[in-house]
Amino acid sequence: MNYQDSINFIHEQFNTNEFIPLHAPYFGGNEKKYLNECIDTTFVSSVGAFVDQFENEIINYTDTKKAVAVVNGTAGLQVALQLVGVKENDEVLTQALTFIATANAIKYNQAHPVFIDVDVDTMGLSPSAIIDFLEEFGDLREDGTYNKKTNRRIAACVPMHTFGFATRIDEIVEICKRWNIPVVEDAAESLGSKYKGKYLGGFGDVAVLSFNGNKIITSGGGGAIVTNNIELGTKAKYLTTTAKVPHAYEFFHDELGYNFRMPNINAALICAQLEQLPTFLANKRELAQQYKDFFENSSLKFRWELPESQANFWLMCVEAENKKERDLFLETTNQYGVMTRPIWQLMFKLSMYKDCQRDAQVNAQFLEDRIVNIPSSFRNKQ
Ligand SMILES: *Cc1c(COP(=O)(O)O)cnc(C)c1O
Repeated sequence: MNYQDSINFIHEQFNTNEFIPLHAPYFGGNEKKYLNECIDTTFVSSVGAFVDQFENEIINYTDTKKAVAVVNGTAGLQVALQLVGVKENDEVLTQALTFIATANAIKYNQAHPVFIDVDVDTMGLSPSAIIDFLEEFGDLREDGTYNKKTNRRIAACVPMHTFGFATRIDEIVEICKRWNIPVVEDAAESLGSKYKGKYLGGFGDVAVLSFNGNKIITSGGGGAIVTNNIELGTKAKYLTTTAKVPHAYEFFHDELGYNFRMPNINAALICAQLEQLPTFLANKRELAQQYKDFFENSSLKFRWELPESQANFWLMCVEAENKKERDLFLETTNQYGVMTRPIWQLMFKLSMYKDCQRDAQVNAQFLEDRIVNIPSSFRNKQ
């Protein structure tokens, strides 16, 4: 099998014979206007009107109660875990099929990731695998659930919505509630995606979004912590702004805080990008539909959303029949100027996480061997 027809199709979709990246940012709105306002007013740094505007717009968009703009998604996850009570030597349930930031944020809190399998259809954390793990190892005590094998507290669970496809987040939240385990949603890839009519990021105790340059909208670098728990949200703002006790001119900090603020200049960029999000979503869905039709009779299966969910189609992907087909597709497409990329290597294969407890990871391995991202950028049709 050769993939020349796929390569030609992708070049046609992007109307170019040149190199096609996986995901390029697009600045077609008020970006320059807002950035100039920052410079003209001198508000380029850690406070400014765009930061406040952005936080309010994220609250409205995601239908949550509090949003805190931060310097990047990884820092947001680190603080989110601390907010729900993750401490040194605790454990955190998460998926091995994820971007490194999810696992690193757990480690930054001196806690241990425990890798639970994903579902094949969602590519996100599997509710049934969580149940299997907790029934075997969970010991529900007064102050939370402990792992019978390690005697460590399971202090949080971090499901991740892979490429903007929703996990079965309502089931995960329900299971975790029963075991008294807080849920931190890694929604870094899923701004604009919905599950059962509700935006992702609004399900867990707290959620984190990312606005890195490769995400659906970008602030250059940046992220947000969102929550429906006002108390947690207020604490998030406090911890990410050096834990300074408010005072007109004095400096007093009553705990170890961070300088994780998003600068106003980045907030200006994201405010302009947020205005274009509905356009981006519609434009990407159209591309997704074209891919779906094209790959219908192919050995490569184009990945679609669950019926009860709505994906943002941030990064689109196909599933190859096996690893051999995956490798051939990767090699051929990249050779002909169409950027494609395999999904991440499973976290426990990396030296930092090789000793972490994990289940059999059958589905994660299946997906690691088969999933390939294909060009997914917004297409300017002017
Ligand atoms: C992008 C991303 C993050 C956070 O990334 P930053 O680059 O630090 O903003 C976290 N988790 C996942 C799954 C991501 O894709």
